[in-house]
Amino acid sequence: MNLFELTTSLMNIPSVSGDEEAVGFWLRDHLQSLGWKVELQKVSENQNNVIAWLNDKPRVWFSTHIDTVPPFIPPVVDDEKIYGRGACDAKGIIAAQITAAEELRGRGVEDIGLLYTVEEERSSTGARAANEHPLAAKCEYMINGEPTDNELAIGSKGSFRLKIKTTGKAAHSAYPEQGDSAIEKLLEILADVRQTKFPSEEFFGETTVNIGTIEGGVALNVIAPHAEAGLLIRLTTPREPIENALKNVIRGRGEIEVLSCSEPVKMLEVDGFRQKTVRFTTDIPYLTNWGQPLLLGPGSILVAHTKDEFVMKRDLTQAVELYSDLAVRLLRSS
Ligand SMILES: [Zn+2]
Repeated sequence: MNLFELTTSLMNIPSVSGDEEAVGFWLRDHLQSLGWKVELQKVSENQNNVIAWLNDKPRVWFSTHIDTVPPFIPPVVDDEKIYGRGACDAKGIIAAQITAAEELRGRGVEDIGLLYTVEEERSSTGARAANEHPLAAKCEYMINGEPTDNELAIGSKGSFRLKIKTTGKAAHSAYPEQGDSAIEKLLEILADVRQTKFPSEEFFGETTVNIGTIEGGVALNVIAPHAEAGLLIRLTTPREPIENALKNVIRGRGEIEVLSCSEPVKMLEVDGFRQKTVRFTTDIPYLTNWGQPLLLGPGSILVAHTKDEFVMKRDLTQAVELYSDLAVRLLRSS
């Protein structure tokens, strides 16, 4: 099976987060048929990470995720591109990594492993489970794949997800002086948040805030007793200074509920590769036991998660070369 067939075979199996079982089984069978040792690591009732290796010292690992965002979009192929869900995020990447690993194996390089996680697009429970796997201890370098336009990402922003909640006092809307509007409080806080310049860091760039959801109140004729907004902050510094700045903005008018947080990460730089920092988050912050992280993959994050997701065939082909070069360099240096 060639690189493009492998990509579309993976894309043909729907695997929206929570529904990765079938693609995991398919990958296990495929890798076993090539002669890899494969373990399915159970993450939930129907979600398994796929872990594959060749010998007893897999020192360099390729990894990415097998889940996709919804909806499933079947693959369409033309001369230049493969379109559809997972083309670049991340089934094309899985195909490029397996092809690179097989090439390395053909040259007698076998100190390599493959780690494919579930649930990256939601809560990274797959990566968290993988972090407890005993094979992590053998890994010196982990080459994670996400669409970076085939450039080596040397830093990725963190993400801090939280809610700001306000409470008030319900009253008849004809007698507003009897009540206290949680929605008005929330709007004032959000206006202040939008005026705030949060701390940032030169290496990673700007800290940015998205007010992604807002809800509250009970009826048009009732002063709102509660309201909340959901924020996602792309971190360029540790969480603490940002959380403190936010508390200063809120000044007791509301409460912060932290949903999740991953800190920004710096990754390994390697000479001879085009390098950049990226704004998105990956499984890497949860794979701390898996050696030094690197991040590289074909395709653009700007089309990932869209209905027009695609990957250029020539970028997939180039990724195979980059992955195998990188693995060889890392194996030599360790
Ligand atoms: Zn991804």
